[in-house]
Amino acid sequence: IALLVIALVALYSTGPGYGSSIDSLMWSQDRTGDTEGGSLESEETQRSLMDKMEKPLVSNEADSTQIDYDSILSKRKQLLSDTLKVPITEPKTGDLVRLNDPRAGKAMATILCLARNEDIADVISSVQQLEEQFNGQFKYPYTFLNDEEFSDQFKDELIRLLPKGRKINFGKIASELWDMPDSIDRDIFKTKMEELGGIQDVEKVSYHNMCRFYSKTFYHHPLLQEYKYIWRLEPNVNFYCKIDYDVFQFMEDNDKIYGFVLNLYDSPESVRTLWSSTMNFVKKNPQYLHERGSYEWIKDNVQKPDNYEITGGYSTCHFWTNFEIINLDFLRSKPYEDFMSYLEDQKGFYYERWGDAPVRSLALALFADKSRIHWFRDIGYQHFPYTNCPKCPANSHRCNGNCKPGSFSPWPALEKENCLPVWIEHIMSKQELEVY
Ligand code: GDP
Ligand code: MN
Repeated sequence: IALLVIALVALYSTGPGYGSSIDSLMWSQDRTGDTEGGSLESEETQRSLMDKMEKPLVSNEADSTQIDYDSILSKRKQLLSDTLKVPITEPKTGDLVRLNDPRAGKAMATILCLARNEDIADVISSVQQLEEQFNGQFKYPYTFLNDEEFSDQFKDELIRLLPKGRKINFGKIASELWDMPDSIDRDIFKTKMEELGGIQDVEKVSYHNMCRFYSKTFYHHPLLQEYKYIWRLEPNVNFYCKIDYDVFQFMEDNDKIYGFVLNLYDSPESVRTLWSSTMNFVKKNPQYLHERGSYEWIKDNVQKPDNYEITGGYSTCHFWTNFEIINLDFLRSKPYEDFMSYLEDQKGFYYERWGDAPVRSLALALFADKSRIHWFRDIGYQHFPYTNCPKCPANSHRCNGNCKPGSFSPWPALEKENCLPVWIEHIMSKQELEVY
């Protein structure tokens, strides 16, 4: 038995997972210098994390009819409105890098935009607003990617819009990074899509390609190899408020790996087996689970109980990835890459319509320290039909008045799609809430 224990210890300490490559070693060292996972002492922790994975956020094993959904929801609603009515400007971390700082504009970062040639007018609109509110000051390069060659018109219009000397990359995406892989049976795909009819964009192969691309291949594109951070930009979005500090240096200095502005519930039919696949992956790789993951957020069963039911245990809460600022080291880490190849093998990018948003969000919630995920509360942003609109102090001219502070959507019926209340209640610390 003693020998067996020794053998097991040896297996554990050299086994796959955190600490098994330089990449992931660097990855697992966070601000406090601790490393996570992989040790025997953590077996206990792993068990308790698996337990969190299996249980809904709110349960009453004796009698589930005793859960007072209404009172939980109304408490959340209050918390959200209390949070959003506080006037804010920018993070009060005391270390913001502004224009006159030698580090301003010097992060290894690019603004990334995936677009088609015919999207040019909407791309111009987004770029113009981002330049006006942020990047005119900081002058970060743009990287435009397309699965086809960009037309001269597309390139010329952007070159004309942006100041001389600004770096602009235009790239084509290779077929290996974009197209439906050979492992996908075309006939099964067709049948599955007919069954799923009704889900947004489900019948478009290109939409599936896009979701897979943004989940698991975009950061392998040659043009992105020199960058550590990307800010994802989509055509036809709006920015409402000036951002007078370098957000990439903010990420760097505060050890953030992910920045979001909106988070929502997803359509559960599009990710019917994503949770069970994730559970299977995690059972094989429990060492990847982070002790301070965002479990409560992905296990909420109160606000949209049907979503939780249909997916077999996933709230469907996800960061809305049309805006995201990412430290690509996270995507390049072993846990993320292993998770992606596992998901690819499950074929849900094509036999279902797994979005990059739930995929990325699950990876972040499970493998990352929640304190490294940042809500950019101060960034006024809209992608139809949802908005993040900060309340400004009186006399502030930071925002242009084109969004309504605290308003999530013009349609009250869509309020229940907002997962932010869960994020605020269960994931954010008091201190984080007060940083604004
Ligand atoms: P939605 O926000 O989920 O409705 O998806 P969008 O239609 O906005 O697509 C998300 C992003 O991918 C946008 O930046 C689009 O321009 C881009 N995109 C979507 N499909 C394609 C495609 O087939 N080719 C290219 N080059 N870009 C695409
Ligand atoms: Mn979009």
